Amino acid sequence: MAQSYNVLIGGKWVGSAGGQTREIINPANGRVVALVPQCGREEVDSAVRAAQQAAPAWKAMTMSERSKLLLKLSGAILSRQKELAELETMEHGSPIRKTMNFDVPLCAEQLEYFAGVARGLTGETLPVGPWCASMTVREPLGVVALITPWNFPALMVAWKLGAALVTGNTCVVKPPSITPLTVLKLGELAMEVGIPAGVMNVITGPGETVGEELVKHPGVAKVGFTGDTATGKRIMRIASDSVKQVGLELGGKNAFVVMADADVDSAVEGAVFGAYFNSGQVCAAASRFYIHESLYDEFAEKFVEASKKLKVGDPMDMATVMGPLAYEGHRDKVEGFIARAKKSGAKLLLGGERPDTPETRNGYFVSPTIFGECNTDMELMRDEIFGPVVGLARFKTPEEAVALANQTRYGLSASIWTKDVRAGMAMAGRIEAGTVWINEHLIIFCETPWGGCKESGWGKDLSTMVLEEYTSVKHIYIDLTGQAVKPWYAILK
Ligand code: NDP
Repeated sequence: MAQSYNVLIGGKWVGSAGGQTREIINPANGRVVALVPQCGREEVDSAVRAAQQAAPAWKAMTMSERSKLLLKLSGAILSRQKELAELETMEHGSPIRKTMNFDVPLCAEQLEYFAGVARGLTGETLPVGPWCASMTVREPLGVVALITPWNFPALMVAWKLGAALVTGNTCVVKPPSITPLTVLKLGELAMEVGIPAGVMNVITGPGETVGEELVKHPGVAKVGFTGDTATGKRIMRIASDSVKQVGLELGGKNAFVVMADADVDSAVEGAVFGAYFNSGQVCAAASRFYIHESLYDEFAEKFVEASKKLKVGDPMDMATVMGPLAYEGHRDKVEGFIARAKKSGAKLLLGGERPDTPETRNGYFVSPTIFGECNTDMELMRDEIFGPVVGLARFKTPEEAVALANQTRYGLSASIWTKDVRAGMAMAGRIEAGTVWINEHLIIFCETPWGGCKESGWGKDLSTMVLEEYTSVKHIYIDLTGQAVKPWYAILK
């Protein structure tokens, strides 16, 4: 029987005014697992007001007090690791071995990191002259709206939430419609550990209505958004009406460049991880592979063999490494890319169909899929697929590899595989991306900034840089002369 959820506004759990709900579906088997409220303008307004009311007291707390509450939330997440992991696997289809060992612990770690690192946040004193004290202080922005995608339901919230709350902002979280359950659970844990009512509000409902109302709302100071580039552009346009700050973590079409001197076995290991982690539903997924012509055949053969070994199946099984795609419509979209790629002249090397086993038959599964002999004109090499589907192409020279890597409207990430780290560094400097890995793909840390350039967005998540994104700098000037008339007043005399 599907469980009914409420949303969190001002510390209270409530349904939507109209009583409408949405079914949450387990993508591994198509079964309805929960019902969540479909909120509207009324709930958006209530949530923003609740966050506004909670803001002065939250801002007045010391950094140490807020930090300790975040640490408690981090601890609560770890103490409920299994419950959260199972919930996320059920709503998203991500294998339990990943949600248990990656998503949930990393959520806790993000909060722990921000709880610690924010305590080092400082202002500056400015050497204007001996007649004054001039300083900068960092202040919270006020109410921030956090609008997040479905590919890592809890993690995408946790890393924004940690930075926003510890710096003294209050927030309204709008999780994705298809995977809101883990985020609602985070709201429950926030209440349990004593985060004051109204500091974290969670409302569910369609992005086109609830999301846009949040972006428009005059009580919201900033929108922290992660999602599709088209949605990000729309949010930017709407936010401009009220000159609202926006942080945009958008799509990617990430190059994986294998140089002539690369260790092919390591590159293949990295390729499997980069391409299929989270079923390829990763903004930074390796999806355009450029391989030096001398290694192309060997790399392609080994990559295909390694991809065949992946256990695709029931995400609740600890042995499964690749689950379904997150929802039926997305599976259909990915299959559309595959069908068009088959007609494009690219050579299908692996997959291209649904796995047909008893455990996958009722879910939204797509097999690991590799196309060879691709070129940059193909849709497969241009557009974000967001599934376990990749294209391989050859290059001859490092210059060509850099040019190919940059032939995209996105600029999120890229990787270079080479034994010559000096040459790798030189290439990294020429690749247009927010992150370039050398002999690695996809790895992120709390300490390292995350965010793209070009149409992959702007602003940073993670690292100390994000603390600046959720605070504003105020300059305070104190006259120390005690004189009523200053020399520069002479200008008006
Ligand atoms: P969407 O842009 O469709 O949705 C993201 C969030 O925005 C959801 O909560 C959605 O609500 C909401 N939303 C949708 N339309 C609007 C609107 N008009 N105004 C305000 N909010 C809106 O992205 P997906 O959820 O499909 O996520 C996949 C995308 O996210 C990919 O492009 C991926 O690359 C990107 N991404 C980027 C990351 C990065 O760090 N750069 C990290 C992770 C993902 P609803 O669910 O109700 O539609």
